Amino acid sequence: MDKFLVSIIIPVYNEAQQIRESLLKIDGLLKKSGINREFILVDDGSRDDTWRIITEANSEIPGLRAIRFSRNFGKEAALCAGLERANGDACLIIDADLQHPPELIPEMVRLWREEGFEIVEAVKASRGKESFLHKLCAVSFYRILRMFSGIDLDKASDFKLLDAKVVAAWREMGERNTFFRGMVAWVGFKSAVIPFEVGQRTHGSSKWSNLKLIKLAVNAITSFSSLPLQVVTFLGVVFFIGSIILGAQTLYMKFSGIAVSGFTTVILLQLIIGGCLMICLGIIGTYIAKIFDEVKGRPRYIVSETLNLNQEAASRSNAGVKYRTV
Ligand code: UDP
Ligand code: MG
Repeated sequence: MDKFLVSIIIPVYNEAQQIRESLLKIDGLLKKSGINREFILVDDGSRDDTWRIITEANSEIPGLRAIRFSRNFGKEAALCAGLERANGDACLIIDADLQHPPELIPEMVRLWREEGFEIVEAVKASRGKESFLHKLCAVSFYRILRMFSGIDLDKASDFKLLDAKVVAAWREMGERNTFFRGMVAWVGFKSAVIPFEVGQRTHGSSKWSNLKLIKLAVNAITSFSSLPLQVVTFLGVVFFIGSIILGAQTLYMKFSGIAVSGFTTVILLQLIIGGCLMICLGIIGTYIAKIFDEVKGRPRYIVSETLNLNQEAASRSNAGVKYRTV
């Protein structure tokens, strides 16, 4: 076996039917390729038997470490918990449902070890089976994100291998609401991509509700760009120019004695300006809510139980949050 250690980080939420099979498959593949690994499973407050199955798998899979959250904090928080506790020379993040093909892991490790890539990203060759509406929303979200932040994440997935250096840089980022894919794109480093076909889920269904996806999208955009706030200024300028033109026209009509009852104009203006003001207030409100969330400095998640983790590692949370000590 090679001397280097790869931490396999798996966020798990209500995957009782799937998790044991996934672990055995990934472990078998890694053994065959001679990759030295540790598993860090994060049970994101599952309501089914997931935690029991993880603790039982402990006897079959040596080097299995796990954390259980006190409730469902979301996949982003689960990834944080895993990355904060990883000891490996590299971390590999993979879903619990085998939709990320573990067969790619040896190649990802090779690119890291032999070719010196610090980030190896598996990108979706296609988006797998999705409804038309889901696909449309996803495509629009990535377009908007790219337009606002310049970060292109279309096809990106959370299936990534990160060198310990990248993980250290990631740990320096203290925000409470994290967007893993965006943060990895932001830190830079030498990266390679390998395409993969998104597999079908064999058990259960996707754990992302539409509301969760919308929250993730809003968080991603507001985390990486303050451009929406400039939209407010832009709209203000457009309406100011419009009001000068309209004002001049109104005054001209008035003084030349041909002013008609301009009800339509008034109503239209009311509606347009009212609508724009509401949208702008909403955008500002979203950012203020974000600042409020961050300033509270609450932990990103709360751990209720651990498996094979020492006390210090078990309670490690919010690494890198600087403002709390100021
Ligand atoms: N997951 C999680 N917390 C959540 C939702 C999902 O830890 O609140 C995990 C889930 O167990 C899986 C991964 O994140 O390992 C991806 O979730 P899912 O397969 O439901 O998402 P999709 O493949 O549909 O994007
Ligand atoms: Mg999935």
